[in-house]
Amino acid sequence: MGPGMTFSEPETLDEVCSLLSKDPEARCLAGGASLVAMMNAGLLAPTQLISLRKIPDLGAITSMPDGSVKIGAMARHNDVAAFSGFLGAQRIISAAACRIGHPAIRNMGTIGGSICHADPSADYPTAITAADAVVSILGSEGARQVAARDFFVDWLETTLEQGEIAVSVTIPPDPSNASVHYEKFTRADGDFATVSVAACLGMSDGVVQTFRVVVGGVAEKPVRSPEDEAVFIGRPLKDSDIVEFSAALEALCNPIDDMRGSADYRLKLMPRLISRALKRAQADQLVSDSGETA
Ligand SMILES: Cc1cc2nc3c(=O)[nH]c(=O)nc-3n(C[C@H](O)[C@H](O)[C@H](O)COP(=O)(O)OP(=O)(O)OC[C@H]3O[C@@H](n4cnc5c(N)ncnc54)[C@H](O)[C@@H]3O)c2cc1C
Repeated sequence: MGPGMTFSEPETLDEVCSLLSKDPEARCLAGGASLVAMMNAGLLAPTQLISLRKIPDLGAITSMPDGSVKIGAMARHNDVAAFSGFLGAQRIISAAACRIGHPAIRNMGTIGGSICHADPSADYPTAITAADAVVSILGSEGARQVAARDFFVDWLETTLEQGEIAVSVTIPPDPSNASVHYEKFTRADGDFATVSVAACLGMSDGVVQTFRVVVGGVAEKPVRSPEDEAVFIGRPLKDSDIVEFSAALEALCNPIDDMRGSADYRLKLMPRLISRALKRAQADQLVSDSGETA
């Protein structure tokens, strides 16, 4: 710990929010995978670390009576990856969770830590946006809920205000029983994505019922366009529409050059990954329509 830095392990969420609200330099500690790495690199020097480890049930994953799944902020990536209660489009969450880093990171990191860190190359921001998830937030001023698409604001920045924490992520039910595919292109096995695509595709009688495609690693936050998605509904899935859709998304991208790839390379990858993700999701839909097990 740095000089003067304190460490606490409160047992209630109210206590966490109260501590955070009084000190803008305090940080809550979840798995520590990103926070401690940033401290070690000298990028952050919090005055207080407030561990979430002792808050009861904050790591629970619960199937709710309405068919939604509530994932506590402290749920580890491995537990989310192994959760068998996701149905239809909800499965994009476990598909992304099992692609995060490598086993040690999946044992350590939490969904709350990942989304609050808000790295646009991370896997959960893209997946929870594609799942139409809702983030439950608690602060000293009260509780609020924010749609995943509004939660991410900028590079490493979310809508969270000082004194607020993410408590859970709720994944809505998917009556269309969509298929999902999470396509992640990495420079090296276990790395963050150069570009990732989360696709949820539901088809019935040869026409599209559910269409959500979100791209990560190409802008300051996940890229999604509900208006361009709406074009697909009620029509067969056509290659020419996918090409036009990718071009429309490209206009919303703002990629950077970094060690995982240049901005140009990311934009070249994106349409290929979108097409591949949709083709794989479509193949799964055909299998489930014909009654076979995938
Ligand atoms: C070697 C390595 C490889 C990795 N590879 C990948 C990868 O391929 N894909 C990927 O997506 N991620 C990857 N990660 C990141 C990993 O998933 C982290 O676990 C995650 O980003 C942070 O989760 P954490 O629980 O460790 O959070 P912490 O590091 O404890 O916290 C991260 C930030 O979020 C804040 N925070 C934590 N919980 C809350 C909360 N509930 N409310 C408000 N703020 C909160 C903290 O104060 C801190 O600012 C990798 C990390 C490492 C070290």
